[in-house]
Amino acid sequence: MKTDILVVGAGFAGAVIAERFASHGKSVLVIDKRSHIGGNAFDELDSAGVLVHRYGPHIFHTNAPHVEEYLSQFTEWRRYEHRVLSSVEGNLYPVPINLQTINQLYSLSLDEEGVAAFFENVREKRTPIRNSEDIVLNNVGRDLCDKFFRNYTRKQWGLDLSELSPAVAGRIPVRTNSDDRYFTDNFQSMPAEGYTRMFERMLDHPNIRIELNTDFRNVRNKVDATQTFYSGPLDAYFDFCFGKLPYRSLSFRHEHFAQKEQYQPVGTVNYPNDYEYTRITEFKHLTGQSHSGTSIVREFPETTGDPYYPVPTSENQALYQSYKKLADAESGTFFIGRLAEYRYYNMDQVVAAALLLSSKLLNNPR
Ligand code: FAD
Ligand code: UDP
Repeated sequence: MKTDILVVGAGFAGAVIAERFASHGKSVLVIDKRSHIGGNAFDELDSAGVLVHRYGPHIFHTNAPHVEEYLSQFTEWRRYEHRVLSSVEGNLYPVPINLQTINQLYSLSLDEEGVAAFFENVREKRTPIRNSEDIVLNNVGRDLCDKFFRNYTRKQWGLDLSELSPAVAGRIPVRTNSDDRYFTDNFQSMPAEGYTRMFERMLDHPNIRIELNTDFRNVRNKVDATQTFYSGPLDAYFDFCFGKLPYRSLSFRHEHFAQKEQYQPVGTVNYPNDYEYTRITEFKHLTGQSHSGTSIVREFPETTGDPYYPVPTSENQALYQSYKKLADAESGTFFIGRLAEYRYYNMDQVVAAALLLSSKLLNNPR
Protein backbone atom coordinates (compact mmCIF):
# COMPACT_ATOMS: atom_id res chain seq x y z
CA MET A 1 0.00 0.00 0.00
CA LYS A 2 1.40 3.40 -1.02
CA THR A 3 1.00 6.67 0.91
CA ASP A 4 3.04 9.85 1.31
CA ILE A 5 2.78 9.78 5.09
CA LEU A 6 2.19 6.95 7.55
CA VAL A 7 1.15 8.06 11.04
CA VAL A 8 1.27 5.45 13.79
CA GLY A 9 -1.07 6.42 16.63
CA ALA A 10 -4.15 8.66 16.49
CA GLY A 11 -3.48 10.60 19.71
CA PHE A 12 -2.52 14.28 19.87
CA ALA A 13 0.92 13.77 18.28
CA GLY A 14 -0.38 11.68 15.38
CA ALA A 15 -3.51 13.75 14.77
CA VAL A 16 -1.59 17.04 14.53
CA ILE A 17 0.93 15.55 12.07
CA ALA A 18 -1.85 13.97 9.99
CA GLU A 19 -3.86 17.19 9.83
CA ARG A 20 -0.84 19.35 8.95
CA PHE A 21 0.46 17.08 6.15
CA ALA A 22 -3.03 16.43 4.72
CA SER A 23 -3.67 20.17 4.61
CA HIS A 24 -0.45 20.49 2.58
CA GLY A 25 -1.71 18.08 -0.06
CA LYS A 26 -0.04 14.87 1.16
CA SER A 27 -1.85 11.55 1.31
CA VAL A 28 -1.89 10.37 4.92
CA LEU A 29 -2.62 6.94 6.37
CA VAL A 30 -3.27 6.97 10.13
CA ILE A 31 -3.23 3.64 11.95
CA ASP A 32 -3.99 2.89 15.59
CA LYS A 33 -4.05 -0.45 17.32
CA ARG A 34 -6.99 0.67 19.42
CA SER A 35 -10.56 0.73 18.12
CA HIS A 36 -10.83 4.51 18.37
CA ILE A 37 -9.03 7.80 17.67
CA GLY A 38 -7.91 10.31 20.34
CA GLY A 39 -5.22 8.23 22.07
CA ASN A 40 -5.33 8.62 25.83
CA ALA A 41 -7.52 11.72 25.56
CA PHE A 42 -10.39 9.62 24.16
CA ASP A 43 -13.76 10.38 25.77
CA GLU A 44 -17.15 8.73 25.36
CA LEU A 45 -20.62 8.51 26.91
CA ASP A 46 -20.79 5.72 29.48
CA SER A 47 -23.83 3.44 29.64
CA ALA A 48 -25.66 6.01 31.79
CA GLY A 49 -24.96 8.80 29.28
CA VAL A 50 -22.27 10.64 31.28
CA LEU A 51 -19.26 11.88 29.27
CA VAL A 52 -16.19 10.13 30.73
CA HIS A 53 -12.50 9.89 29.83
CA ARG A 54 -11.72 6.20 29.34
CA TYR A 55 -8.01 6.63 30.15
CA GLY A 56 -8.28 8.95 33.14
CA PRO A 57 -8.99 12.66 33.58
CA HIS A 58 -7.66 15.01 30.89
CA ILE A 59 -7.75 18.72 31.64
CA PHE A 60 -6.51 21.00 28.89
CA HIS A 61 -4.29 23.92 29.93
CA THR A 62 -1.64 25.92 28.08
CA ASN A 63 0.41 29.09 28.06
CA ALA A 64 1.07 28.76 24.33
CA PRO A 65 -1.30 30.97 22.31
CA HIS A 66 -0.39 29.18 19.05
CA VAL A 67 -1.47 25.81 20.51
CA GLU A 68 -4.77 27.29 21.70
CA GLU A 69 -5.33 28.91 18.29
CA TYR A 70 -4.49 25.75 16.39
CA LEU A 71 -6.88 23.53 18.38
CA SER A 72 -9.60 26.20 18.34
CA GLN A 73 -10.06 25.46 14.64
CA PHE A 74 -11.54 22.13 15.67
CA THR A 75 -13.50 22.87 18.83
CA GLU A 76 -15.33 25.41 20.91
CA TRP A 77 -14.23 25.53 24.54
CA ARG A 78 -15.83 25.47 27.96
CA ARG A 79 -13.82 27.35 30.56
CA TYR A 80 -12.80 25.07 33.42
CA GLU A 81 -10.26 25.52 36.21
CA HIS A 82 -9.34 22.26 37.87
CA ARG A 83 -9.29 21.98 41.66
CA VAL A 84 -7.84 19.11 43.67
CA LEU A 85 -8.19 18.19 47.34
CA SER A 86 -5.98 15.69 49.13
CA SER A 87 -7.37 13.34 51.75
CA VAL A 88 -4.95 13.34 54.69
CA GLU A 89 -5.87 11.78 58.04
CA GLY A 90 -9.54 11.87 57.08
CA ASN A 91 -9.71 15.57 56.12
CA LEU A 92 -9.61 17.22 52.68
CA TYR A 93 -6.90 19.84 52.01
CA PRO A 94 -6.14 21.93 48.92
CA VAL A 95 -3.32 20.70 46.65
CA PRO A 96 -1.01 22.32 45.56
CA ILE A 97 -0.22 23.11 49.19
CA ASN A 98 -1.29 26.72 49.82
CA LEU A 99 -2.19 29.11 52.65
CA GLN A 100 -5.46 27.24 53.36
CA THR A 101 -3.67 23.89 53.51
CA ILE A 102 -1.24 25.14 56.14
CA ASN A 103 -3.81 26.97 58.26
CA GLN A 104 -6.29 24.08 58.17
CA LEU A 105 -3.71 21.33 58.78
CA TYR A 106 -1.91 23.02 61.69
CA SER A 107 -4.88 25.06 63.06
CA LEU A 108 -3.15 28.37 62.30
CA SER A 109 -4.40 31.65 60.89
CA LEU A 110 -1.33 32.84 58.99
CA ASP A 111 -1.39 35.43 56.22
CA GLU A 112 0.79 35.14 53.08
CA GLU A 113 3.88 36.44 54.83
CA GLY A 114 3.25 34.13 57.75
CA VAL A 115 3.01 31.12 55.44
CA ALA A 116 6.25 32.12 53.68
CA ALA A 117 7.93 32.30 57.11
CA PHE A 118 6.38 28.95 58.04
CA PHE A 119 7.90 27.29 54.95
CA GLU A 120 11.24 28.97 55.66
CA ASN A 121 11.15 27.47 59.14
CA VAL A 122 10.22 23.88 58.17
CA ARG A 123 12.08 23.48 54.88
CA GLU A 124 15.28 21.42 54.66
CA LYS A 125 17.67 23.30 52.42
CA ARG A 126 19.01 21.06 49.65
CA THR A 127 21.60 22.06 47.07
CA PRO A 128 21.89 20.83 44.48
CA ILE A 129 18.38 19.53 43.85
CA ARG A 130 19.05 16.04 42.51
CA ASN A 131 15.70 14.28 42.82
CA SER A 132 12.03 14.68 43.75
CA GLU A 133 12.70 14.21 47.46
CA ASP A 134 15.17 17.12 47.39
CA ILE A 135 12.69 19.44 45.72
CA VAL A 136 9.86 18.66 48.16
CA LEU A 137 12.01 18.81 51.32
CA ASN A 138 13.64 21.98 50.06
CA ASN A 139 10.21 23.59 49.57
CA VAL A 140 8.06 22.36 52.45
CA GLY A 141 10.07 20.11 54.77
CA ARG A 142 9.53 16.60 56.05
CA ASP A 143 6.08 16.60 57.63
CA LEU A 144 4.29 17.94 54.55
CA CYS A 145 6.46 15.72 52.34
CA ASP A 146 5.41 12.63 54.29
CA LYS A 147 1.73 13.59 54.46
CA PHE A 148 1.19 14.70 50.85
CA PHE A 149 4.00 13.40 48.60
CA ARG A 150 5.95 10.36 49.77
CA ASN A 151 3.23 7.72 49.75
CA TYR A 152 1.39 9.08 46.71
CA THR A 153 4.64 8.91 44.78
CA ARG A 154 5.42 5.39 46.00
CA LYS A 155 1.96 4.27 44.85
CA GLN A 156 2.08 6.09 41.52
CA TRP A 157 5.58 5.07 40.46
CA GLY A 158 6.52 2.10 42.66
CA LEU A 159 9.60 4.17 43.58
CA ASP A 160 10.72 6.45 46.39
CA LEU A 161 10.72 10.21 45.77
CA SER A 162 14.52 10.10 45.99
CA GLU A 163 14.70 7.82 42.93
CA LEU A 164 12.75 10.14 40.63
CA SER A 165 13.86 13.19 38.67
CA PRO A 166 13.05 16.51 40.41
CA ALA A 167 10.78 17.28 37.45
CA VAL A 168 8.18 14.77 38.72
CA ALA A 169 7.26 16.33 42.09
CA GLY A 170 8.36 19.66 40.59
CA ARG A 171 5.14 19.59 38.54
CA ILE A 172 3.30 20.57 41.73
CA PRO A 173 4.03 24.12 42.89
CA VAL A 174 3.87 25.37 46.49
CA ARG A 175 1.91 28.53 47.18
CA THR A 176 1.89 31.05 49.98
CA ASN A 177 -1.41 32.57 48.79
CA SER A 178 -4.86 30.99 48.71
CA ASP A 179 -4.97 30.21 44.98
CA ASP A 180 -6.41 26.70 44.98
CA ARG A 181 -6.34 26.02 41.23
CA TYR A 182 -4.31 22.98 40.16
CA PHE A 183 -2.98 24.85 37.10
CA THR A 184 -2.27 28.54 36.63
CA ASP A 185 -1.92 28.59 32.82
CA ASN A 186 -3.52 31.50 30.98
CA PHE A 187 -5.75 29.16 29.02
CA GLN A 188 -7.63 26.43 30.88
CA SER A 189 -10.63 24.93 29.12
CA MET A 190 -12.24 21.70 28.01
CA PRO A 191 -13.33 20.96 24.43
CA ALA A 192 -17.03 21.87 24.56
CA GLU A 193 -18.20 18.70 22.80
CA GLY A 194 -15.40 16.53 24.17
CA TYR A 195 -11.95 15.45 22.98
CA THR A 196 -13.16 12.72 20.62
CA ARG A 197 -15.34 15.18 18.67
CA MET A 198 -12.32 17.51 18.39
CA PHE A 199 -10.16 14.66 17.02
CA GLU A 200 -12.90 13.71 14.53
CA ARG A 201 -12.80 17.23 13.15
CA MET A 202 -8.97 17.28 13.00
CA LEU A 203 -8.88 14.05 11.04
CA ASP A 204 -11.86 14.78 8.79
CA HIS A 205 -9.94 15.50 5.58
CA PRO A 206 -10.18 13.89 2.12
CA ASN A 207 -6.42 13.19 2.18
CA ILE A 208 -6.61 11.27 5.49
CA ARG A 209 -7.47 7.60 5.71
CA ILE A 210 -7.80 5.98 9.15
CA GLU A 211 -7.32 2.28 9.86
CA LEU A 212 -8.21 1.34 13.44
CA ASN A 213 -7.47 -2.01 15.15
CA THR A 214 -4.23 -1.99 13.17
CA ASP A 215 -0.92 -2.67 14.90
CA PHE A 216 2.20 -1.20 13.29
CA ARG A 217 3.98 -4.52 13.90
CA ASN A 218 1.63 -6.22 11.46
CA VAL A 219 1.78 -3.65 8.68
CA ARG A 220 5.28 -2.16 8.90
CA ASN A 221 6.48 -4.16 5.90
CA LYS A 222 3.29 -3.70 3.92
CA VAL A 223 3.02 0.10 3.80
CA ASP A 224 5.19 2.01 1.34
CA ALA A 225 5.42 5.51 2.85
CA THR A 226 7.83 8.35 2.09
CA GLN A 227 7.79 9.41 5.74
CA THR A 228 6.60 7.63 8.88
CA PHE A 229 5.63 9.31 12.17
CA TYR A 230 5.60 6.87 15.07
CA SER A 231 3.97 7.71 18.43
CA GLY A 232 4.04 4.29 20.12
CA PRO A 233 6.53 3.08 22.75
CA LEU A 234 10.10 3.55 21.54
CA ASP A 235 11.44 0.18 22.72
CA ALA A 236 8.72 -1.75 20.86
CA TYR A 237 9.69 -0.07 17.57
CA PHE A 238 13.21 -1.51 17.94
CA ASP A 239 12.02 -4.93 19.12
CA PHE A 240 13.29 -4.24 22.68
CA CYS A 241 16.87 -4.72 21.44
CA PHE A 242 18.35 -2.99 24.52
CA GLY A 243 15.74 -4.43 26.89
CA LYS A 244 12.44 -2.98 28.09
CA LEU A 245 12.24 0.77 28.53
CA PRO A 246 10.08 1.18 31.66
CA TYR A 247 6.67 2.81 31.27
CA ARG A 248 4.24 3.11 34.18
CA SER A 249 0.77 1.75 33.61
CA LEU A 250 -2.59 2.34 35.26
CA SER A 251 -5.84 0.49 35.47
CA PHE A 252 -8.93 2.66 35.45
CA ARG A 253 -12.01 1.59 37.41
CA HIS A 254 -15.05 3.51 36.30
CA GLU A 255 -18.22 3.63 38.35
CA HIS A 256 -21.63 5.28 37.90
CA PHE A 257 -23.94 6.33 40.72
CA ALA A 258 -27.52 6.61 39.44
CA GLN A 259 -28.96 8.08 42.65
CA LYS A 260 -26.26 10.66 43.35
CA GLU A 261 -25.95 13.99 41.59
CA GLN A 262 -22.51 14.76 43.06
CA TYR A 263 -19.90 12.37 44.49
CA GLN A 264 -17.21 14.78 45.76
CA PRO A 265 -16.77 18.56 46.11
CA VAL A 266 -14.12 19.05 43.36
CA GLY A 267 -12.96 17.40 40.13
CA THR A 268 -10.26 15.26 41.75
CA VAL A 269 -9.58 14.00 45.28
CA ASN A 270 -6.11 12.52 45.88
CA TYR A 271 -5.54 9.69 48.37
CA PRO A 272 -1.82 9.80 49.17
CA ASN A 273 -1.86 7.51 52.20
CA ASP A 274 -4.91 5.25 51.92
CA TYR A 275 -6.21 2.72 49.39
CA GLU A 276 -4.46 1.26 46.36
CA TYR A 277 -5.69 3.97 44.02
CA THR A 278 -4.05 7.38 43.83
CA ARG A 279 -7.06 9.55 43.03
CA ILE A 280 -10.75 9.73 42.22
CA THR A 281 -12.04 12.04 39.51
CA GLU A 282 -15.69 12.97 39.02
CA PHE A 283 -16.22 13.88 35.38
CA LYS A 284 -19.23 16.19 35.67
CA HIS A 285 -17.01 18.80 37.37
CA LEU A 286 -14.73 18.79 34.30
CA THR A 287 -17.40 18.76 31.62
CA GLY A 288 -20.20 20.77 33.28
CA GLN A 289 -22.69 18.13 32.15
CA SER A 290 -26.10 18.08 33.88
CA HIS A 291 -27.25 14.58 34.78
CA SER A 292 -29.28 13.12 37.63
CA GLY A 293 -26.48 10.60 38.32
CA THR A 294 -22.69 10.92 38.30
CA SER A 295 -19.63 8.96 37.09
CA ILE A 296 -16.18 8.66 38.62
CA VAL A 297 -12.90 6.93 37.86
CA ARG A 298 -10.31 5.52 40.28
CA GLU A 299 -6.70 5.19 39.07
CA PHE A 300 -4.73 2.11 40.18
CA PRO A 301 -1.03 2.27 39.22
CA GLU A 302 0.44 -0.87 37.65
CA THR A 303 3.87 -2.04 36.50
CA THR A 304 2.56 -3.96 33.52
CA GLY A 305 -0.20 -3.11 31.09
CA ASP A 306 -0.68 -0.35 28.52
CA PRO A 307 2.13 2.22 28.76
CA TYR A 308 0.98 5.63 30.04
CA TYR A 309 3.95 7.37 31.66
CA PRO A 310 7.70 7.38 30.96
CA VAL A 311 9.41 6.76 34.32
CA PRO A 312 11.84 9.67 34.88
CA THR A 313 14.90 8.15 36.58
CA SER A 314 18.52 8.63 35.52
CA GLU A 315 18.88 4.92 34.71
CA ASN A 316 15.86 5.01 32.39
CA GLN A 317 17.09 8.21 30.79
CA ALA A 318 20.37 6.46 29.94
CA LEU A 319 18.52 3.52 28.37
CA TYR A 320 16.31 5.95 26.46
CA GLN A 321 19.45 7.64 25.07
CA SER A 322 20.60 4.29 23.63
CA TYR A 323 17.26 3.88 21.86
CA LYS A 324 17.32 7.53 20.78
CA LYS A 325 20.59 6.97 18.94
CA LEU A 326 18.90 4.29 16.88
CA ALA A 327 15.88 6.54 16.38
CA ASP A 328 18.04 9.42 15.11
CA ALA A 329 19.65 7.09 12.58
CA GLU A 330 16.31 5.80 11.25
CA SER A 331 15.97 7.73 8.02
CA GLY A 332 12.47 8.82 6.99
CA THR A 333 10.97 7.95 10.37
CA PHE A 334 10.19 10.50 13.08
CA PHE A 335 9.44 9.66 16.71
CA ILE A 336 6.74 11.85 18.24
CA GLY A 337 4.71 12.19 21.42
CA ARG A 338 4.89 11.03 25.01
CA LEU A 339 5.76 7.38 24.47
CA ALA A 340 8.18 7.64 21.53
CA GLU A 341 10.02 10.72 22.87
CA TYR A 342 9.90 9.23 26.40
CA ARG A 343 8.91 12.61 27.85
CA TYR A 344 6.42 13.40 30.59
CA TYR A 345 4.52 15.66 28.21
CA ASN A 346 1.19 17.35 28.84
CA MET A 347 -1.23 17.49 25.91
CA ASP A 348 -0.35 21.05 24.92
CA GLN A 349 3.37 20.18 24.86
CA VAL A 350 2.68 17.26 22.52
CA VAL A 351 0.71 19.57 20.22
CA ALA A 352 3.46 22.23 20.29
CA ALA A 353 6.18 19.66 19.48
CA ALA A 354 4.16 18.14 16.61
CA LEU A 355 3.37 21.59 15.18
CA LEU A 356 7.06 22.53 15.31
CA LEU A 357 8.18 19.32 13.61
CA SER A 358 5.54 19.51 10.88
CA SER A 359 6.30 23.15 10.11
CA LYS A 360 10.04 22.37 9.88
CA LEU A 361 9.46 19.44 7.55
CA LEU A 362 6.83 21.14 5.42
CA ASN A 363 8.97 24.24 4.93
CA ASN A 364 12.16 22.28 4.27
CA PRO A 365 11.12 18.99 2.68
CA ARG A 366 14.12 16.65 2.53
P1 FAD B 1 -1.15 8.80 23.10
O1 FAD B 1 -2.35 9.61 23.42
O2 FAD B 1 -0.73 7.73 24.03
O3 FAD B 1 -1.37 8.17 21.65
C1 FAD B 1 -0.53 7.17 21.13
C2 FAD B 1 -1.39 6.25 20.28
O4 FAD B 1 -0.51 5.32 19.61
C3 FAD B 1 -2.36 5.41 21.10
O5 FAD B 1 -3.69 5.63 20.64
C4 FAD B 1 -1.89 3.98 20.88
O6 FAD B 1 -2.98 3.06 20.79
C5 FAD B 1 -1.17 4.09 19.54
N1 FAD B 1 -0.16 3.04 19.35
C6 FAD B 1 0.85 2.69 20.18
N2 FAD B 1 1.57 1.68 19.67
C7 FAD B 1 1.00 1.38 18.47
C8 FAD B 1 1.28 0.41 17.47
N3 FAD B 1 2.29 -0.46 17.59
N4 FAD B 1 0.49 0.37 16.38
C9 FAD B 1 -0.55 1.24 16.25
N5 FAD B 1 -0.87 2.16 17.16
C10 FAD B 1 -0.10 2.23 18.26
N6 FAD B 1 -2.16 15.91 29.82
C11 FAD B 1 -2.68 17.14 30.05
O7 FAD B 1 -2.29 18.10 29.38
N7 FAD B 1 -3.64 17.34 31.02
C12 FAD B 1 -4.12 16.33 31.78
O8 FAD B 1 -4.99 16.53 32.62
C13 FAD B 1 -3.60 15.02 31.56
N8 FAD B 1 -4.03 13.99 32.30
C14 FAD B 1 -3.53 12.74 32.07
C15 FAD B 1 -4.01 11.69 32.85
C16 FAD B 1 -3.54 10.41 32.65
C17 FAD B 1 -4.05 9.29 33.50
C18 FAD B 1 -2.55 10.17 31.64
C19 FAD B 1 -2.03 8.78 31.41
C20 FAD B 1 -2.06 11.21 30.87
C21 FAD B 1 -2.54 12.51 31.08
N9 FAD B 1 -2.10 13.59 30.32
C22 FAD B 1 -2.61 14.84 30.54
C23 FAD B 1 -1.08 13.42 29.26
C24 FAD B 1 -1.71 13.16 27.88
O9 FAD B 1 -2.45 11.95 27.93
C25 FAD B 1 -0.60 13.04 26.85
O10 FAD B 1 0.23 14.18 26.86
C26 FAD B 1 -1.12 12.89 25.41
O11 FAD B 1 -2.30 12.14 25.33
C27 FAD B 1 -0.03 12.23 24.62
O12 FAD B 1 -0.42 12.14 23.27
P2 FAD B 1 0.38 11.17 22.30
O13 FAD B 1 -0.21 11.31 20.95
O14 FAD B 1 1.83 11.37 22.48
O15 FAD B 1 0.14 9.70 22.89
N1 UDP C 1 2.27 14.17 43.69
C1 UDP C 1 2.18 13.79 45.03
N2 UDP C 1 1.05 14.07 45.73
C2 UDP C 1 -0.01 14.70 45.17
C3 UDP C 1 0.06 15.08 43.82
C4 UDP C 1 1.21 14.78 43.10
O1 UDP C 1 3.13 13.19 45.55
O2 UDP C 1 -1.02 14.93 45.86
C5 UDP C 1 3.51 13.88 42.95
C6 UDP C 1 3.51 12.43 42.43
O3 UDP C 1 4.83 11.97 42.36
C7 UDP C 1 2.92 12.64 41.03
C8 UDP C 1 3.61 13.93 40.61
O4 UDP C 1 3.62 14.72 41.82
O5 UDP C 1 3.23 11.56 40.18
C9 UDP C 1 2.94 14.69 39.49
O6 UDP C 1 1.57 14.89 39.81
P1 UDP C 1 0.49 15.18 38.67
O7 UDP C 1 -0.82 15.44 39.33
O8 UDP C 1 1.02 16.21 37.75
O9 UDP C 1 0.45 13.77 37.93
P2 UDP C 1 -0.33 13.28 36.61
O10 UDP C 1 -1.60 14.08 36.54
O11 UDP C 1 0.59 13.49 35.48
O12 UDP C 1 -0.57 11.83 36.91
